Amino acid sequence: MEIRELTKEIRDRSIEYAKPKDLDNLSASWYQEDLLYSGKGKTIFLILPTPGCSWALGPSGGCTMCSYISDCYLKPIETSKIIELFEMELGKWDFAEDYKNGEKIAIKLFASGSFLNPEELPKEARNYILQRLADLDEISEIVVESRPEYVKKEIIDEIFEIIGDKLFEISIGLETSNEETRLNKINKGFNNKSFERAIDTIKQSKESYDIKSKAYIFVKPILLSESEAIEEAIETASYCESIGVDRVSCCPATIHRGTLIERLWRRGSYNPPWIWSTVEVINRIRENVNIPALMDTSGFGSRRGPYNCKKCNKELKHKIIDSNFDQSQIEHDCNCKSEWIAEVKFSNLNRSKTQTKHLPLY
Ligand code: SF4
Ligand SMILES: [Zn+2]
Repeated sequence: MEIRELTKEIRDRSIEYAKPKDLDNLSASWYQEDLLYSGKGKTIFLILPTPGCSWALGPSGGCTMCSYISDCYLKPIETSKIIELFEMELGKWDFAEDYKNGEKIAIKLFASGSFLNPEELPKEARNYILQRLADLDEISEIVVESRPEYVKKEIIDEIFEIIGDKLFEISIGLETSNEETRLNKINKGFNNKSFERAIDTIKQSKESYDIKSKAYIFVKPILLSESEAIEEAIETASYCESIGVDRVSCCPATIHRGTLIERLWRRGSYNPPWIWSTVEVINRIRENVNIPALMDTSGFGSRRGPYNCKKCNKELKHKIIDSNFDQSQIEHDCNCKSEWIAEVKFSNLNRSKTQTKHLPLY
């Protein structure tokens, strides 16, 4: 409970001090190579302007590691403005040319919360966007994100009435299969039953539609040691496969501003995972499960992100990105590995949640 109160307090303060946002600068997009269900292709990543995640704006204060809210408008946005910004971002990329050259194209729509929640993205805006994408032969896969409570059969029916036979993936931030961690360390506010219900709804819809599910796995929540975080992420992927999730994507912690994770990090009681830990996680997940498993490398090698040493940060990041395409095992060596091994081996022994860097353990 204390975690929730702290999160709420920190969230309120960061909203209070947030600078007013210029609506025209709240959308963004980029276009790059990606692993699609149909194989290697290209994806348009498009951030839609929204008032912000309802969970973060509500009495819970939101999740302990997430600051998406600070990039949001915090007030309702006219549907016409959302459409205008969506069109502007879509118009930036020459995917039609790539399609002509045989490339497969997907689009990932980020609402900084739940695409399926009409309070975050009005239904009219959602329908317009989906219709626009339905009309584009070039785009074969549409990916959105949502909390599980918004995954409902009626909404899925509405979506497929518009998009027809395109592939539609709903990504859910499960973060971990450990309920104690999810409720009390991440402050996520839903249990495994709620997630399983959402996955079941998607599974049942497969009879009629080309629908898929993806789970995000958060690597190293607060108040877990390095080795606990590794084991939880690996167990979570197996849990996802066992209940019928179509693929998993691991998101190692980075320190977002105005979050509880940042406060602990500033006080020396938290560090993002080692890059070695992310390698261990993804290699073992790929050994254990038969669904595609991706590792996000955002923030790798930066002060606020996963870190090894100056010598191997970059090289390992590129190896991980490459391995996402062919789902291969990552092999690498560097002098800093012994330091990581000591951390993983001993952080549970001394009950420390901080790095053992300065202890003579290796
Ligand atoms: S992680 Fe998702 S549910 Fe949690 S606060 Fe951020 S956007 Fe909202
Ligand atoms: Zn190194």
